Amino acid sequence: MEKFLYKKKSGNYNLVMAYPAVESFAMASLGYLWLYKIASSIDGINAVRLYTDSNKIFLNSIDSMAFSMSFDFDFLGVFKILESLNIPFYSKERNDDFPLIFAGGPVLTTNPRPYEKFFDFMIIGDGEQNFVQVLDILRQKKNKIETLELLKNIEGVYVQGNKVKKATVNLKDVIYTPILSDKSYFKDTFIIELARGCMNRCAFCTASYTNLPFRYNEFNKIIDAINLGLNYTNKVALLGAQIASHPKFEDIMFYLRNKIENGLNLELGISSLRTDAITPDIIKTLVLGGQKHSTIAIEAASENLRKFINKNLKEEQILNAIRISRENGLKGVKIYSMIGIPNEQNEDIQEFIRLGEKIKNENKGFNIEFSFSTFVPKPQTPLQWAQREDTKSLESKQKFLQKELAKKGIQSKFSSPKWDYWQTILSRADDNIAAFLVGVYQNGGNIAAFKKAQKVLNVDFSKEINGFSFEEILPWDIIENYPDKQLLINEERRLLKKLL
Ligand code: SF4
Repeated sequence: MEKFLYKKKSGNYNLVMAYPAVESFAMASLGYLWLYKIASSIDGINAVRLYTDSNKIFLNSIDSMAFSMSFDFDFLGVFKILESLNIPFYSKERNDDFPLIFAGGPVLTTNPRPYEKFFDFMIIGDGEQNFVQVLDILRQKKNKIETLELLKNIEGVYVQGNKVKKATVNLKDVIYTPILSDKSYFKDTFIIELARGCMNRCAFCTASYTNLPFRYNEFNKIIDAINLGLNYTNKVALLGAQIASHPKFEDIMFYLRNKIENGLNLELGISSLRTDAITPDIIKTLVLGGQKHSTIAIEAASENLRKFINKNLKEEQILNAIRISRENGLKGVKIYSMIGIPNEQNEDIQEFIRLGEKIKNENKGFNIEFSFSTFVPKPQTPLQWAQREDTKSLESKQKFLQKELAKKGIQSKFSSPKWDYWQTILSRADDNIAAFLVGVYQNGGNIAAFKKAQKVLNVDFSKEINGFSFEEILPWDIIENYPDKQLLINEERRLLKKLL
């Protein structure tokens, strides 16, 4: 069942808003749902949601179709939906008889180039404001060439062959889940964005660098929105790359805690907490709100590597955060980290075992789990030029960590270095990758399909894996105002000096 927190309008312009994954993920995606709310609040627009597991849609015609891309492998879902509607994948194969197909989302904001042959245009950056302008133009129902001519003048709209200025909005309106659904991955949960971006600027982090400058919502607007949500549900989740960076974060937590202490059966979730921002009061509120575990991101076990990636976290702060979590009622902690960071040495890997043992000894009976991903260099960050470590070497580091941590009684989980390898390629490719992406889809979309498509099409990805020099033109240089390139170069040089 769905509960609408706003009044949906309708009309005769048929806009399909597609999510390239199943309904449970779509209904948990705040960005997707908020843009759906914007479109479906406009008189004259019939906005229809579509997922990879939707039943057939019954529309006389589709006027245009928007996709939201949050993850690198979402292209598989895009192709699946286009194929189900008999719409050609390539933009150049779609004449005026086909709807205009466009897209937005974090993947495209980071690097739209791999997908530009499929979408007629893309929205780069924040979409809350320019989406309305885009819809105004689309509803004029001009032909494709004329429409794209008009669209390319809008800030944040990228039409192949042009440059684009990333759109950045002031957070005037607080974004929250406008439709609560029992089919959502976060069933009936009212998710609310507290802040966008992060002040910390870790050198690998797109959440920080693609969302500069760090912005946050006004306290009063957040409280009003939470109260609106609480009219419909008792489940609230606070969202943001670093919600604790909100200057009034403790006041927001205090407000929620008061509600619980006054008898509200509130289930409270948070996206992530900065390790150095954990306090007894925050943990107590989370425990009252039903949380059992917290997640802290340390990114690397050695202080030397943490300095290099600008994660300025002291070991003492990590130990302190875990102790506070244990003493104030949580059952355990998940410690998130990476391996394969540039300049990582064997000693840096050994440090995980030493740190793990220390944490275990200081927190007897507390559930400790390490979760490791492998470093994927991302565009628009100071590490965008870096080399990706060899898959076999990463696998052997994983084996070592799993075995040695298990000996200390510590559980560990790992991302797949093979998938992370392909993610690196997708992140840093340009439009030459298009045929390969179609080949991957046609071969089933699994790891074997990636390998097969590479072999059949004989494509060389050494550039995407080995990285770039500072002097090279990068595929995503078409985004004019991504963090200034010289600023990123200076930052990488500054961080290199921090290595011992
Ligand atoms: S603290 Fe987290 S969100 Fe902020 S820059 Fe670092 S990794 Fe990104």
